[in-house]
Amino acid sequence: EVVCVTGASGFIASWLVKFLLQRGYTVKATVRDLSDPKKVDHLFNLDGAKERLTLIKANLLEEGSFDYAVQGCHAVFHTASPFFFIAKDPQAELLDPALKGTLNVLKSCVNSPTLKRVVLTSSIAAVANKESPNKTPDVVVDETWFSDPEFLRRTEGWYDLSKTLAEEAAWKFAKENNIDLVTINPALVSGPLLQPVLNTSAAAVLNFVNGSPTFKNVSVGWIDVRDVANAHILAYENASANGRYLLVERVEHHSNAVKILRDLFPTIQLPEKCIDDKPYPAIYQVSKEKAKSLGLEYTPLEVSLKDTVESLKEKKFTP
Ligand code: NDP
Repeated sequence: EVVCVTGASGFIASWLVKFLLQRGYTVKATVRDLSDPKKVDHLFNLDGAKERLTLIKANLLEEGSFDYAVQGCHAVFHTASPFFFIAKDPQAELLDPALKGTLNVLKSCVNSPTLKRVVLTSSIAAVANKESPNKTPDVVVDETWFSDPEFLRRTEGWYDLSKTLAEEAAWKFAKENNIDLVTINPALVSGPLLQPVLNTSAAAVLNFVNGSPTFKNVSVGWIDVRDVANAHILAYENASANGRYLLVERVEHHSNAVKILRDLFPTIQLPEKCIDDKPYPAIYQVSKEKAKSLGLEYTPLEVSLKDTVESLKEKKFTP
């Protein structure tokens, strides 16, 4: 079968392309810059790439950019989207590429005679950002939750807003145009890097081990990148898959992530204290039932953090 992966140079997509090639798929993969070795060499070096991988230049902001990449495909995995938190112009840098880009990709899928399903990489950012209910240890976040765009505008959570608006628009467009859409909604993704460029979520782990004296006062959900890539493939191969799939192995406060790292790497200098004296935000639960129904198995956070730090060291991102 032939499948398309958008944003193939990225952290998650590189693992997705690797696993798709391993499983025998022919992959049409889009990248923004074909001439940059840092964006393409690690893909060309994957097993099976010579025989079954084609790289195609496409940009989220260009109308019709994905037409050729999507043509003849049985599945489209749309992962491309800007992922960073600081933007001078959030509309142009985050909201437009996420929202217009998603619609651009979906437009290329309309009336395709070969296409069976589109799997969109959304995020927990599009699920859990709302004012109520308060997230407490009794609350279970599940796939019925939708983030509140007004809350995100008010709090200037521009990246989270970009993912929320993109997913919302995708569901509407898919319904109107009879496209079989499934979304994968991962939490913060850790795990080894295949690409040579540091991505935002690996940078979050690097921040623990780069000598900083403090950790942030936040609780976040974690999931391993290999589980995320696998979930995309399972969501395509499992005919009865539908709707959204939240992916969270565990929610931990950063103080606990530091504890795990201290046990794993006793000789690395880790942050000693929290950045402020406020009470720690509560740990909430995230439902795993739906993702488990795909047959997904979870990599424990301990293994994922270990592999992330080793990969960061190997790629010389750590001092
Ligand atoms: P990366 O930054 O590694 O990958 C993002 C990809 O999007 C890159 O390939 C990038 O291309 C591409 N992209 C960005 N803007 C454009 C554009 N204008 N045109 C074409 N391509 C573009 O991040 P991740 O792999 O972590 O993220 C992949 C997806 O997963 C995103 O949709 C993200 O929102 C989602 N996600 C990530 C999580 C995480 O913790 N990592 C958690 C939940 C969801 P280029 O290489 O050229 O910059």
